[in-house]
This record gives sequence, C-alpha cells and structure tokens, in this order.
Amino acid sequence: MSDDTTDVYLDNHATTRTDPRVVEAMLPFFTEHFGNAASSSHSFGRDAADAVEIARAEVAQLVGALPREIVFTSGATEANNLALKGLVHVSQQPHLVVSTIEHPSILDPTLRLERNGCRVTRIGCDNNGQIDPDHVAAAIEPDTTLVSIMWANNEVGTINPVDRIARECARHGVVFHSDAVQALGRVEIDCQSLPVGLLSLSAHKIHGPKGVGALVVRRSENRIRIAPQIEGGGHESHLRSGTLPVPLIVGFGTACRLAGELIESETVRLDQLARQLVDGITSRLPGVSLNGHPELRLPGNVHLGFDNIDGDALMAGLKRIAVSSGSACTTADPEPSHVLAAMNVPESLARASLRFGLGRFNNSDHIDVAVNEVVATVQRLRNHDD
Ligand code: PMP
Repeated sequence: MSDDTTDVYLDNHATTRTDPRVVEAMLPFFTEHFGNAASSSHSFGRDAADAVEIARAEVAQLVGALPREIVFTSGATEANNLALKGLVHVSQQPHLVVSTIEHPSILDPTLRLERNGCRVTRIGCDNNGQIDPDHVAAAIEPDTTLVSIMWANNEVGTINPVDRIARECARHGVVFHSDAVQALGRVEIDCQSLPVGLLSLSAHKIHGPKGVGALVVRRSENRIRIAPQIEGGGHESHLRSGTLPVPLIVGFGTACRLAGELIESETVRLDQLARQLVDGITSRLPGVSLNGHPELRLPGNVHLGFDNIDGDALMAGLKRIAVSSGSACTTADPEPSHVLAAMNVPESLARASLRFGLGRFNNSDHIDVAVNEVVATVQRLRNHDD
C-alpha cells in the first residue's frame, strides 16, 4: 500500500470503484452458489449457469445485442486480441485498418500481426482526436478483413462518428470492430441500429469488477467467423474456453443493468461536474486549453493542457487528487501520449496535460478540492519558474 495521501479519486477512465450493489450481487457466488457453470448434472452447476445467463442478458441489453452474441473474456484487452487475431486467423490475405489513437491492446497485437505478414493501414485523427469516416472509407481495399476504430478515446474522451464509420464498412462489406470500453454506459450503444460486427467491453470501467469483459460477436452481421485464441473445453460457443468466473460475470451483468438505469441522470450530473471543473480552473488560471473535441466528448472527461509548466513537476505537485497525465496503461512509458501527438498537440503541452475522469462517486466538493489543488500547484510552479 502506498502511504501517499490522495484525497479525491478523479481517474475513472483508468478504473472505477466497484459499486456496492455490484459487490452485494457477486458475494453469494463466492460462497453458497459456488458451482461450476459447466456442471450441468447438479443444481450447484445449474444455479451458476442460470446466473451467467441472467448476466449475459444484462450485458446484451446495455448494447442492444442478443444474449447469444456475448462472449465473456477476462477483459477488453483479451476481447481486442480475440477480435483482431481471431479474424486474421481465418483470413487468406489479411488487411487491417486501424487508427493511430487506439488503446495499446489494439496497437500492440496489430504490430505483431503485421510482423507476421498481415498488411495494416493506419489512419490518423484530426486535431480534436476524431477519426474521419471518409479516411476510413479511403483506406478500405478489396481484401480488407477488418476495420477497428474505438468508440470513444480513453485519453481525451473524444467520441467518434461510429455510425458513419460502421455504415462505410457495411457499404464495402467489411467487418467493423469497435473498442467500446470507454463509451459503455456513458453514451448510447445500440447494435440493433448500427452495422457493427464486433464490440469490446470491460466491466471495471463501469463500476463492475476487474478481470471480466466481453467481445460482442454479432451473429446477424456478415456471418462473422473468428478463430478462438484460447482453447480447451469449448466454453462460450467454442470462442473462449476456460471455466467461467461466475462472480465476476454476475458483477459485470449487475454493473451493466445499473449503468443502463442511471445513464441519463449520470450524463447530466457528470456534465455539470465537468463544467464546474473547467470553469473553476480556467476562470482562475490563464494559459489553459481543453484537449479533445469541445462538444463530442464523454461525459465526465476533462483533459487540460497548461502552458509554461513542467509536466513532471505538475504531476508530482498534485498531492490531493488522483488524476492521470495520459493513459494509465502507458504511464511506464516516458514518451508523451501517442494520442496527443496524433492530435498535433506540441510535445511540451502534451507533457503538461492532465486527464480528469469523473465518475459515479464524485461530487461537487471533490471538484472544489481539484480546482483549488490544480490552481495552487500551477500558480506555485509558474511563480517559481519566473
Ligand atoms: N480499451 C480501452 C479504450 C481502454 O481504456 C482499456 C482499459 N485501459 C482497455 C481497452 C483494456 O481493458 P481491460 O482493462 O479490461 O483489459
């Protein structure tokens, strides 16, 4: 345990606190209902299997998919790997189209597939972090296997025009995959009305447990065929073998149900808190810019760049709030964010940028603490440098 005292958690894009209602729903599946969901010969197993099916329906409901289209995985990293590698595996001459601002769980497998002979076209974003559907359409070739574009960016929160991208893919007969991890539960996702073929989801970004996610494999779209990457037992329609983590799946289902019930009220509340944060900081500090799209961004995402300041000193100076200087998944990497670089944010400003991720358990007092902490730290560092 770190003995640093951080008072306020504002890093909800990295992970979220598990909702107590989710924990409560999970607990019996560690103790009295501990059966293996594949043990169909007795009630312990059948009770576990019933709970998994309820959760499968809850996850499906949140994204407008059918329960049989949900393939449970250990998280979205695995779901992304399964989507890319699973599809390339069954293709003769694979060609992938991805954006340069994807999460590492898309970018790294893509690089490996490329080293193994797969052709890859990478498309950039505009200065707001958005992908142009026309650029996607232009990158599609006759033998393109898959287009993978994230629904919303995990750093700057920009929401992509996925409806138009999905329709371009459908028009060209190409499977469209979207990493919807950050969008889930925050913006409406409806597979019924959108020709999306594959969708990656994760529980721990929506107040569910860590270690569980799903790949949605639309059965109705293009008769998608993917090869399993983990075999042995034939679980999840032979697409992902391994004993199902029933408590985690129950937690994921409950988190999805709650997210669906709360999405409208949370959007309003998170927008208000985000406005309080931005107004509080920009009214007291000059030289602050908002990274990402001014309107089309995730509720609760605020990404700010601070002029004339050293990024490391800024992060080190913020003692009372937990925020991120970029993607949590790349904090071991001293390079500035690949997303901000793709958006043409100058390197010094990228290094002096902060990502605030507001969530269900934040309130306006937390925002006051954050505003005071950021303003005081930036003023101190700027004065010190003068
Ligand atoms: N994609 C995006 C956009 C993410 O933000 C994350 C989590 N940082 C992942 C994928 C990976 O999800 P998981 O932690 O479930 O493996």
